[in-house]
Amino acid sequence: MDHLARATTSSASSTRVVDVLVPVALNQTYSYRVPRGMELKPGDVVAVPLGPREVVAVVWAENANPDPRLHNRLKDVGEKLDVPPLKEELRSLVDWVANYTLSARGMVLRMTLRMGEHLGPERVRMGVRLAGKPPQRMTPARRRLIDVLSDGLLHGKSEAAKEAGVSTGVVDGLVDEGTLATEPMPRAVAPPAPDPSYAQPEFSRQQRTAVDAMRALAANGSFHVALLDGVTGSGKTEVYFEAIAEVIRRGKQTLILMPEIALTGQFLDRFSRRFGVRPLEWHSELTPRTRQRNWAAIAEGEAPVVVGARSALFLPYANLGLIVVDEEHDQAYKQDEGAHYHARDMAVVRAHIAKIPIVLASATPSVETEVNARKGRYQRVVLPSRFGGQHMPHIEAIDLRREAPARGRFISPRLAEEIKIAIERREQALLFLNRRGYAPLTLCRACGHRFACTICDAWLVDHRFRQRLVCHHCGFSMPRPLICPHCQAEQSLVAVGPGVERLQEEAAALFPQARTMVLSSDLITSIETMRSELNEIAEGRVDIIIGTQLVAKGHHFPRLNLVGVVDADLGLSNGDPRAAERTFQLLNQVIGRAGRDQGRGVGYLQTHQPEHPVMKALVACDREAFYLSEIEGRERALYPPFGRLASLIISGGDRPTAEGFARRLVAVAPIDPRIQVLGPAEAPLAVIKGRYRFRLLVKSARGVDLSEYLREWLAAGPKTKGNLKLEVDVDPQSFL
Ligand code: ADP
Ligand code: ZN
Repeated sequence: MDHLARATTSSASSTRVVDVLVPVALNQTYSYRVPRGMELKPGDVVAVPLGPREVVAVVWAENANPDPRLHNRLKDVGEKLDVPPLKEELRSLVDWVANYTLSARGMVLRMTLRMGEHLGPERVRMGVRLAGKPPQRMTPARRRLIDVLSDGLLHGKSEAAKEAGVSTGVVDGLVDEGTLATEPMPRAVAPPAPDPSYAQPEFSRQQRTAVDAMRALAANGSFHVALLDGVTGSGKTEVYFEAIAEVIRRGKQTLILMPEIALTGQFLDRFSRRFGVRPLEWHSELTPRTRQRNWAAIAEGEAPVVVGARSALFLPYANLGLIVVDEEHDQAYKQDEGAHYHARDMAVVRAHIAKIPIVLASATPSVETEVNARKGRYQRVVLPSRFGGQHMPHIEAIDLRREAPARGRFISPRLAEEIKIAIERREQALLFLNRRGYAPLTLCRACGHRFACTICDAWLVDHRFRQRLVCHHCGFSMPRPLICPHCQAEQSLVAVGPGVERLQEEAAALFPQARTMVLSSDLITSIETMRSELNEIAEGRVDIIIGTQLVAKGHHFPRLNLVGVVDADLGLSNGDPRAAERTFQLLNQVIGRAGRDQGRGVGYLQTHQPEHPVMKALVACDREAFYLSEIEGRERALYPPFGRLASLIISGGDRPTAEGFARRLVAVAPIDPRIQVLGPAEAPLAVIKGRYRFRLLVKSARGVDLSEYLREWLAAGPKTKGNLKLEVDVDPQSFL
């Protein structure tokens, strides 16, 4: 591809100057001279010298009055890249997100420019076509290859070989004999476009109402937020596909955001069943070459539908017409490194700036979205029951205070009995525990020594598959020792508490005949292996699935009817204001995997607190009760969306310095009756990677421009020096 080729260059000096935003952690733009003969306007993608390097950057503004004294010290723009300019709409989004999240604009810009590094021109691919007489010696392989090429057209060499089921050696042989000729392939042509009429399903009466709403929103084409609120298994995907079909018909692009790429495997297949081809993917695992190619296809409008993780939001779509945020409540949409942004919220911002519709889909909307729908700011489109007459799973609590598992076991007798029955019926069971590894804590029975990370305030997690003790915060790991390093006792180390690996051991002991599989993010080596494991489950080749939240979301496993939540209380006890909401969403999601195809799904919640509102709402299938109490609680405490929050995390190499800085910062917080600054408090995770952490929580009424307040405060406050670091998190999701 010649996108990155030099378009115009000239080293002669000229009087024009442009301000360029470079993709590094800086807020301001830099001025560069425009070489004579180069035409530049805001949005153009350029290569500019930056220190010793050359970086890909974007012209942000014309500089009409450059300081003449600086003029001779300015450097020239290196070249203008042959890619479409970033549209005004996207530049506004970059400015908006940076301003809102207090991130450097260059950091936000970086997310839009992820087209890979300067990779140089793409290798020319060779193609083959039928050119001469049949070969002297005809073999079945050669015959098949000639058949494939009998149309006389140019075919990719490896594609032709693959289609004929022969090795490329067979192709080379026929080229040598003159039967085939090789020619360079023309530049990659756009993949076939999704066909909006390829295979439209029959919709139920209930779905039809929702489909009409989706089509109307797409046809209208202006900014509009719809919450597609449908129970698990109601067909939300099939329904929002109709909005996409409408947008394709109108020649515009759709972006579908997914919380995890783990979910996209089945999704891609479903998409191609509906539209005839797969959509374009965007996520962190793409190879640099694919990334570059996909970026270009998106920018040139050759990718009608893009499915991606949160970073896909910042791509330079040529003509975006719709955004869909699937599982909009998912906390994976929040990025907590670099620019702290929430992709769902920023997607609404992008839709607003671009004046296009957006669909938020969920069975358990976030409280923020739910309130917006209740207040009529978002349109609610409802799918109240499952497709095909399937019932919602029946949910029961198992009170662990009365029905405790045996010592050192985690599956209660009742749950074990139900699993046994399920397997005998040739159905699948899913054991859910949101904990990676074998055991969250290892201690010495003789001296009580507990294995902790040396540089984090955290226990080391036993990972038996890898035979190591691992810190989940910094990645430190060590071999599991044979003797206690503290008292030298032998065989004294015991695992405390369960992780998914330990559950598998227990399940295998209870059901020796059953085929078990553990699914956990740390055991996944590549997207391909994960997709094939998920396929194995979907095809029914596994009896008991044991998984972390990786298995909770989105999947459709036709033979799964029983879900056992091993520790339903796990997420409730961490002091997070969103703990109840998260637990409700996650457990609803995971139990929603049961009974989607045939038979009745059932979910068991092993809990020590069956009277907790979350457990009661789940058991009674009373979502409304949950939202009412949660919304009321938030309103009373002025928590989002009724008030606003931001958190400041101060960290440093030693405790007094970090704490001292946090105190000095609080001391200069501007007084504002609408704003409360709480803290500093030691963070729940007090030390990570040897850094001591303190938190400030800033709380305000709803209408306050918290970003502006923070900016003024931080500009006037003490500056971080040396090892000190200050991170700003507007609308925090994590409180650790
Ligand atoms: P949700 O996302 O709401 O949990 P899905 O979109 O995954 O639900 O739908 C659940 C199952 O029902 C999927 O296998 C889907 O293909 C199927 N389904 C939903 N609606 C239809 C329809 N109108 N025709 C055929 N199959 C449907
Ligand atoms: Zn650590």
